[in-house]
Amino acid sequence: MTVWMENARYRAARDIVRSLEAKGHTAYFAGGCVRDLLLGSEPKDFDVATSATPDAVLRIFAELGRKTYAVGAHFGVVLVCLGQDEAGREIATEVATFRNDGAYTDGRRPDAVQFATDAREDVVRRDFTINGMLLDPGVLERTGEIDPAVLDFVGGREDLRSGIVRAIGDPRVRFAEDKLRMLRAVRFAARLDFRIDPATMRAMQGLAREVDQVSCERIREELTRMLTEGHARRAMELMDEAGLLAEVLPEAVRMHGVEQPPEWHPEGDVWTHTMILLEHLEPGCSPTLAWGALLHDIGKPATFQIDRSGGTERIRFSGHVDVGVRIAETMLRRLRFSNDDTEQIVALIKHHMRFGDVPEMRESTVRRFLRLPKFDEHLRLHWLDCTACHGRLGIWSAMKARYEAEPEEVVRPRLLVTGRDLIADGYQPGPRFKAILEAAEDAQLEGVVHTAEQAMSWVRERFPSPAGIPAEAAR
Ligand code: ATP
Ligand code: MG
Repeated sequence: MTVWMENARYRAARDIVRSLEAKGHTAYFAGGCVRDLLLGSEPKDFDVATSATPDAVLRIFAELGRKTYAVGAHFGVVLVCLGQDEAGREIATEVATFRNDGAYTDGRRPDAVQFATDAREDVVRRDFTINGMLLDPGVLERTGEIDPAVLDFVGGREDLRSGIVRAIGDPRVRFAEDKLRMLRAVRFAARLDFRIDPATMRAMQGLAREVDQVSCERIREELTRMLTEGHARRAMELMDEAGLLAEVLPEAVRMHGVEQPPEWHPEGDVWTHTMILLEHLEPGCSPTLAWGALLHDIGKPATFQIDRSGGTERIRFSGHVDVGVRIAETMLRRLRFSNDDTEQIVALIKHHMRFGDVPEMRESTVRRFLRLPKFDEHLRLHWLDCTACHGRLGIWSAMKARYEAEPEEVVRPRLLVTGRDLIADGYQPGPRFKAILEAAEDAQLEGVVHTAEQAMSWVRERFPSPAGIPAEAAR
């Protein structure tokens, strides 16, 4: 008995299969969970496929007093609520009726699905052989072994053993039906460290241009999963090889062959540097960090210049950060990222070169830097950036130590002077306010003033009302 057999999701799905069988239907575990069990990893979800129609599934579980939801009525998917997970949350298991998807005309969805009673028919509409296996939990429970419980009509077991992602049937037909499958092929190959079967890869290369039929949201979701599952480099390399990257992120493909100064970047061009960053992203890392890593140097291809002014040739990327921010904003908008995510990803790009300036920064500037939202991601990106080239981590260690040592109130102290205080003191609200408040905050961050009274008299001295702002403070 393996540990996952104690898993509440496993037991819920097993009980669902038993209930369906008791009513004379066929039912199996299907798809990803069978693949994961054969690989020896614990599945996230246990999905059930059955000969029972959606109506029959709804009726059977309603009679047993279970909550059910017809989520994809058109596709025959019913959610059955049974059991609770470790955190006490209700488990909803997907129960899908065997089906035959028929023709696809829009490159995304079948025109009409037909329910089937034969499991074989259901298997051939699935995407890859490794995702096309079924498992009989009754046999598993009796024998305690996975192997004899698996039903494999598509050669999935063999492909799983050899580490191959292969489309079921003719890959050109299968990708023409649903372009999303091309992204899924890359995601599974990267995640499992599998090869993509040559005919499957050729079909992807032939159809890559049609990936634009997939919605931007789905493309973004697939890319984010590729970038955060722990094999981001391989995923982007496969995307590139399949010609998909040129379609969905053409700006990233331009990083190829963009040379960098070898004294700073012994690893090679901008693409290689970026791939090394991606290689170091941990599984489960934050999506914004992953996108920040992919895009941090996206402004370099457009700003590449050879400077011959000093008698020698030097590669420069003047202004690459600002250009990169603009390119990234366009890309993120195109992929319909939320405003919050866009802001954070753009901030990561915008500030990534500032670490180099830390030794020369005034204390107030360092503190402002440290209190950027999610500073830990900025810190991590800087670590990745250095690790992927020269490997010097002095500034990173110093900033990390400060970030960890300084409690929130020190980095983000309550302001000693606010706009309201200025008004109470007779200052007229206006454009001058911002400069005064910032200067007062600087004085506070630098430790020049410690109390509200000190801060206010410092303001009165520096900004004698109604006289103008002293030149130095206004800068
Ligand atoms: P994950 O661990 O990422 O959830 P999974 O294999 O469970 O992997 P799902 O997206 O949950 O993937 O889909 C469940 C199953 O449905 C797949 O294993 C596959 O058999 C089938 N499937 C999903 N999407 C498609 C598709 N676009 N075309 C054909 N079959 C698909
Ligand atoms: Mg799944």
